[in-house]
Amino acid sequence: MVTGKNYIGTTLSAESTKTYKTFNPIKNTPNETIFFEATSKEIEKAVLLANKAHETFKMVSGIKKAEFLNAIADEILALDTDLIQMYTLESGLPEDRAIGERTRTVGQLRMFANLVADGSWVDATIDTGDPDRKPNAKPDLRKMMIPLGPVVVFGASNFPLAYSTAGGDTAAALAAGCPVIVKSHPMHSGTGELVAKAVIKAAEHTGMPNGVFSNLNSSGIEVGVQLVKSPKIKAVGFTGSIKGGRALFDLASKREEPIPVFAEMGSINPVVILPKTAKHDGEYWAKTYASSITLGSGQFCTNPGLLLGIKSKELTTFIQILAKEILKIDPTCMLHPNIYQSFNKNKDTAILQSNVHVAASYTSNVNKNFARQTIITVDGATFLENPILHQEVFGPYSIVVECENTEELGLIVSKLEGQLTGTILATDDDAKKHINIINLLKNRVGRLIFNGVPTGVEVCPAMQHGGPYPASTDSRFTAVGIHSIKRWIRPFTYQDWPDHLLPEELQNINKLGIVRLINGIQTTKNI
Ligand code: NAP
Repeated sequence: MVTGKNYIGTTLSAESTKTYKTFNPIKNTPNETIFFEATSKEIEKAVLLANKAHETFKMVSGIKKAEFLNAIADEILALDTDLIQMYTLESGLPEDRAIGERTRTVGQLRMFANLVADGSWVDATIDTGDPDRKPNAKPDLRKMMIPLGPVVVFGASNFPLAYSTAGGDTAAALAAGCPVIVKSHPMHSGTGELVAKAVIKAAEHTGMPNGVFSNLNSSGIEVGVQLVKSPKIKAVGFTGSIKGGRALFDLASKREEPIPVFAEMGSINPVVILPKTAKHDGEYWAKTYASSITLGSGQFCTNPGLLLGIKSKELTTFIQILAKEILKIDPTCMLHPNIYQSFNKNKDTAILQSNVHVAASYTSNVNKNFARQTIITVDGATFLENPILHQEVFGPYSIVVECENTEELGLIVSKLEGQLTGTILATDDDAKKHINIINLLKNRVGRLIFNGVPTGVEVCPAMQHGGPYPASTDSRFTAVGIHSIKRWIRPFTYQDWPDHLLPEELQNINKLGIVRLINGIQTTKNI
């Protein structure tokens, strides 16, 4: 049962008079449960508890943390249909998407469980001392990664499970040894509470300290702002709009002790269609992109919002087929009336710009909150001059830019803002001839795709989900895959410490059997 209360550690709490409800976008009606926004005092309690929990949680072994993460996964699965029903009720997304996202969430938790059970992720690096070195003795230095401290995770509207309460950010932070306070997303607070309950149960069953996890409700920016300003909070994870991410980043930078904000924000994921591919495979790619643009009502951070090609009759044919195919797809419900309204507003703003042509716009009757997919076209010079056309339109929308020639295409690519992904559709010959364009695109993105679509983010170690600003606030990190743990840790060195006082990871005998870099050589051997 969903109570509408906050979880402050293991305690359910509802002290506020400020309440709100989530919304069913399919029925276009509010859902039943009343949620209590966290008060300033409740936020403070959650932060103090997380800070206290950090003192013990940071000492918990990798094996015990793995038990905790696996128990969260088990508890989420045990929620069964209650969770799936709540997810669909609050997001308007279909049941198969809910099940798929749950599989991903559970998979991420188990992936981090395996990582910390193995233990080598701490990057133990040992340079043994040499007291006889001349002219100065060489100290014994032993370095490993340690957790930053309590972190705040903002739930994302477009991934109620995989990027929210126990999603990738939370799983990575808990794996690192950081207590987590989730700022639940107001669009799916019921889903959030169910998952929070699963995390709390798992923490209790596996003996984790109270305060290792809290879940706070909010329907405005105040809760998030207070959390980010709290001196005991040491880092922030966020997925959402550029406006929101940037505001939190600025807030964190202005603190007396600035902290990192890992915000994954807007991206229009440019796709470059090179000439020979437009000629030989244009029809195939037009059909494929009609599906990719409309997938999940276009509400993915990797949605292809910009298609770039060189003016030709083949590109014209590509646009015609794309327009025809996309209109064959039935519109789907967006996450929330606010997101639906933003989509319409931003799409209409783009359409009203000079020299913009509408190639496809779904005009038949649709249910409330169902998005009408749209493709617009524009020439390269207009696109270059008009920053409005570069902005993300979150939804089933894409702009096709017809460039005058390769030079103009290169200029446009070089002037793009930072992006999560870039895609090259090319034959081998195309790719060889346009290496300059490919290199320019590489400068602007975190992941470069060859002959594919950007939607569908594989969760695995080699995945990079992040990119130059504004795709993310720090292009050195990923929000997906095991390396995302690096956002929540810092390197720490012991100098000349007695062996028995060192953490097991750095002692002479390698009891954990982890891979270590000892005097420049990677090994699992003892010293
Ligand atoms: P959002 O407006 O960025 O909000 C995300 C979370 O951050 C919410 O919990 C919100 O709190 C909080 N927040 C926003 N601005 C804040 C501020 N100035 N200070 C403190 N907290 C703040 O994103 P959204 O609600 O998920 O969706 C709105 C739009 O964001 C979408 O239409 C889309 O354009 C974009 N978006 C992009 C992606 C992507 O992957 N590229 C993903 C999701 C959304 P409250 O809601 O409680 O105010």
